[in-house]
Amino acid sequence: MALQGPRNRSIAARATLLLSLVIGLIFVAAGVSVYFDIREQTLSQTLVQLDSYSGQVSALQESRFARLGAAHRNARALLLAELASGDSNENARLFNRLFPSDGRGARRSIDLLFDGGQTPFGFVRGVGAFVRAEPDMQEKSLLLAATRVAHAVGEGVRPDLKSLYFFTPDNALIMFAPDRKDQLRFYRKTAPPSLDFQGETFARISTPQANPRRETRCTPLVHILYDRTGRTWTTGCMTPVDVGGRHIGTWGTSLLLEDLLGATELDGPPGADVVLVSTEGMLIRHPRYTRQSRAGAEKLLDLTATRDPALQALWAFVQRHGSAPFVGRARGLHAYVAMRRIPTPGWYVMVMQDESVLRAAATRALIRVGITAALCLVIQAVVVALLLRRYVRQPLKRLAEQTRDLTSRIEPGPVADFDDDLGGDEVQRLAHDFAVMSTRLTEAHEGLERQVAKRTEQLREANAELARLADFDALTSLPNRRRMIRDIEARLASSDASSLYMLLLDIDFFKHVNDTYGHLAGDRLLADVAADARAVLHPDDLFGRIGGEEFMAMIEAESLGEAWERTEHLRETLAGRRRKLDGSSDVAVTVSIGIAAAFPGASFSALYATADAALYDAKRNGRNQCSFGDAVVD
Ligand code: GH3
Ligand code: MG
Ligand code: MG
Repeated sequence: MALQGPRNRSIAARATLLLSLVIGLIFVAAGVSVYFDIREQTLSQTLVQLDSYSGQVSALQESRFARLGAAHRNARALLLAELASGDSNENARLFNRLFPSDGRGARRSIDLLFDGGQTPFGFVRGVGAFVRAEPDMQEKSLLLAATRVAHAVGEGVRPDLKSLYFFTPDNALIMFAPDRKDQLRFYRKTAPPSLDFQGETFARISTPQANPRRETRCTPLVHILYDRTGRTWTTGCMTPVDVGGRHIGTWGTSLLLEDLLGATELDGPPGADVVLVSTEGMLIRHPRYTRQSRAGAEKLLDLTATRDPALQALWAFVQRHGSAPFVGRARGLHAYVAMRRIPTPGWYVMVMQDESVLRAAATRALIRVGITAALCLVIQAVVVALLLRRYVRQPLKRLAEQTRDLTSRIEPGPVADFDDDLGGDEVQRLAHDFAVMSTRLTEAHEGLERQVAKRTEQLREANAELARLADFDALTSLPNRRRMIRDIEARLASSDASSLYMLLLDIDFFKHVNDTYGHLAGDRLLADVAADARAVLHPDDLFGRIGGEEFMAMIEAESLGEAWERTEHLRETLAGRRRKLDGSSDVAVTVSIGIAAAFPGASFSALYATADAALYDAKRNGRNQCSFGDAVVD
């Protein structure tokens, strides 16, 4: 299809363009609707998914802390039971053996307790202890009982909980942690004898003042006590033990962040991030910010002091919505968020998905619709163009060719002609061709009409001439014999016949004139006599030439006498005329006239016969005279 300007665009091209436009608009509308529909769907699915995921993560973490709480309560009950029984002296001796003095003012557990070996209360391993002040008998019993309980309960909850320890307000600490890579060397070997951890958070949250309800409490994220690199973060959960209202110690378990965060659940659903934030504003986990156990990352963890706008927004969001579970769009974070709080240790679980992920899903659908639309548009354009070409354009083209062919056979007119530079579509061009054809046909028709009118006029003139020639004599211009018969019969039928008289007039010795002066002179004489006679007769009288030098008249008279007089007058007038037959000499030409009186019912032939007989009489009697004929009965 050749490129054409809008003015010259064919119907096929226009229809194709128009259809494409309409279908394109439908697709755009469908695309927009699909886009928003999918966005809406994806959004609700996403929110459900995010919420369910945050539920899973918090349930997982909570169950871990729940197990921890249960283990601590177990340990507390067991310890209280152990304290109620046993021999103090025996206990003190055993204590001194298992926790000898280090010679620097503190007591530490023997290696066997950690490496594994038989004790009076069975096989023990994974235990390390530091006792700062010299305990009294009671305390020794307590610490020995704590050692047994820590080992027994600790083995039971391993490896779910990697440590279980008991510490007293006097800076004694007994820890069961067989899996620790450092083998508890800090407590067993290197801790300074003056070690006082009562100021540490994990000790402070267990005092009756800090924890009046005596329940399990967890510390905010803190560096682990023995780790001086500052890279190992932990939360410690503590359950105080009181005897008779007196705080005698605390059961504790440290949860290393790297263990807590190792769960695969924290990877989140595809396209989503799981973020953990502590109540104090520490960013515990964020796939883009926190890399646990890597130097340098820790300084990002404090959301209350961060200068990163995204993290500031995150902390602001947690503070604003932290009081209740949240599911929805977080404007400041440009993300959809499901957030809930894990009561112990008081962390927020946020499952976040970027708005862009959602948009991308809807955009992919939009692109699919767009590609489908483009394909459909191309296909429909081709089909419509082909159909229109076949059923409209080609028939129109043939029609146009036939029109032009037909028009070319008509005489080209002065006005209308084809204009190939006209432009427009096929129908407009065809309409133009039809208009040209119509104009040409009208012109041709009018030309024909004019010609027919002209020919008709010529024919009418020829007919008139023919009629004249048929009824009149060419030489004298008088009615001829045929006309005279018709006129006389008509006069006889219409008038009173008794007043009509037929005259038959014959020039005397005309042959002689011809012979003497020639036929041309004879013709002239005939014309002259005819004109003279016509002038003498009344206008109402009929007068004609009926052959050769013979003339006939029908006159009207009151009587025979009057008829005679008028006939005589005619004869005399003609005879009295001097005529120049050869151009010089004057000659008198006479006529003889036979008269027949008409009567009612008389026929032309009867009157003619009577007049002829009378004429014969006149000739025979010497010519140049009139003669009345007797009526002859048919
Ligand atoms: P009559 O007195 O007995 O009538 O003698 P006439 O010579 O007149 O009569 P005739 O019948 O013998 O002759 C008539 C002539 O008229 C013969 C013919 O040649 C001539 N004639 C007839 N028609 C015409 C005509 O149209 N022109 C000429 N020049 N002569 C004619
Ligand atoms: Mg004659
Ligand atoms: Mg004659």
